[in-house]
Amino acid sequence: MGWRMHSHRLVMGVALLAGLVMIVGYLLLSGVPSSFLLSGALVQTSDVTTIVVDAGHGGYDSGSISASGVLEKDVTLEVALLVGERLQEAGYAVVYTRTGDEVSWPSDNSADLAARVETAIEAEADYYLSVHLNASVYGDGARGFEIYADPDDAEMWAMASAVEEQLAELDFSEDRGVKDAWDSQLYVICRNPIPSLLVEMGFISDSQDIDYILSHPHLLADAIAQGVIDSLEAE
Ligand SMILES: [Zn+2]
Repeated sequence: MGWRMHSHRLVMGVALLAGLVMIVGYLLLSGVPSSFLLSGALVQTSDVTTIVVDAGHGGYDSGSISASGVLEKDVTLEVALLVGERLQEAGYAVVYTRTGDEVSWPSDNSADLAARVETAIEAEADYYLSVHLNASVYGDGARGFEIYADPDDAEMWAMASAVEEQLAELDFSEDRGVKDAWDSQLYVICRNPIPSLLVEMGFISDSQDIDYILSHPHLLADAIAQGVIDSLEAE
């Protein structure tokens, strides 16, 4: 009798434990955030991919200037905000290094770039995307888009290629290809712990490039964002 009671409790205990294991296993497999299981409360987890969108230059730093007086910092801001919108629409979290002309950092180039990278670190971002325009001292003639990445980072090199492919489809200028960021020692790539890309959308010094970019900022932004999305969704 004593043994039977004991056995009965043991069977019930094993059944309860098995049930609990199944419930926990189901929750884990069904993707309930682990913080839910640990704390018993639904806590926001950082499952959403966060992308920093960096509009090149800004504030004290105009960047390059076109023959007609267009400032690189204004064009990068317009396109960067549109890229961010597209990424948000696709379900990504977006953090901007700036959303207007004002910048929150000192008027010093190295402090400026360090502050941009710091923004990404503080945001615990997954990716960093910088938008710029190229310039040539020779004016018209040098034209086209190019994307910089770290060739040792296969994921970012592939993302750069996906952005290149999308920009090439616009058929507005020359495809100068994906380039090694280390050759130019690009700070926001080479001194950035967050995987990063830098897009040179075209030459502000070339009248055809800048005319196209100024009149089609949405197309450029869509192409850049689509390249990033294609690359992330291909994983
Ligand atoms: Zn620039």
